[in-house]
Amino acid sequence: MASMERQDGRGVETPSPEPPTLARTAARWGSQHAGARELANLYSPGKRCQEWISVILCFSLMAFNFIHLLANFHLGHVWYILLGIVAGILTADFASGLVHWGADTWGSVDLPVFGKAFIRPFREHHIDPTAITRHDFIETNGDNCMLTLVPLANMAFNFLTLSPAEIYHIYPFYCYLFALGIFVTLTNQIHKWSHTYFGLPRWVVFLQDCHIILPRKHHRIHHVAPHETYFCITTGWLNYPLEKLGFWRNLEDLIQGVTGEKPRADDLKWAQKVK
Ligand SMILES: [Zn+2]
Ligand SMILES: [Zn+2]
Repeated sequence: MASMERQDGRGVETPSPEPPTLARTAARWGSQHAGARELANLYSPGKRCQEWISVILCFSLMAFNFIHLLANFHLGHVWYILLGIVAGILTADFASGLVHWGADTWGSVDLPVFGKAFIRPFREHHIDPTAITRHDFIETNGDNCMLTLVPLANMAFNFLTLSPAEIYHIYPFYCYLFALGIFVTLTNQIHKWSHTYFGLPRWVVFLQDCHIILPRKHHRIHHVAPHETYFCITTGWLNYPLEKLGFWRNLEDLIQGVTGEKPRADDLKWAQKVK
């Protein structure tokens, strides 16, 4: 996989399977790709506003719930807490794969509202994988923050209304839910780090090297066209087992058999856009 220098001197990953001769004609990937430019222009002020609100609410609820989890901690729960955290991370990894696979494989940017807001970033990411490294914190994390708002708000409401005995009872499940919420919320940030080759904080590289979060080398496997495997982008723990099971392939065959829709048809259309 090649690495290229950006204008600000920070190197970023580029997808590898492109023959160099194509550069002489129209851009086949990167920020100058015609489809990538069109997709980047669809990022609207309304969308930006939705992301800001989601980030502020989500991080406030997370802090609130974290304080209440600490306040209700009991040593007797330790093993259940650890189990809950691991299960939460695995669920988040699977959910990241399912959402990523769904958006990469089905639907179209032309779908009303949803297409522009939620499928567009996935199309942009395949033809301009470095764009994510230029997105700020709000654009990177806004959508995932929105996803976790309702469960986090529900947990906060329960901390305020349940009795201490009820909270004690439900505590391990809340540890599971909280770990799930944190990892779902941070998935795109972790994904962005997996595309960043210079200037990452040491602790982030350490977490990647230990495979606690998605390692850079591991995620490159997804970025080989036609982008049909290794969809999990939180920790990537489930990518190998799901690939061995042929999980995504079987699911695609099933859906294609029922609906007649061809997997990745829209993704391919954007990749081929040169004007
Ligand atoms: Zn993808
Ligand atoms: Zn990626």
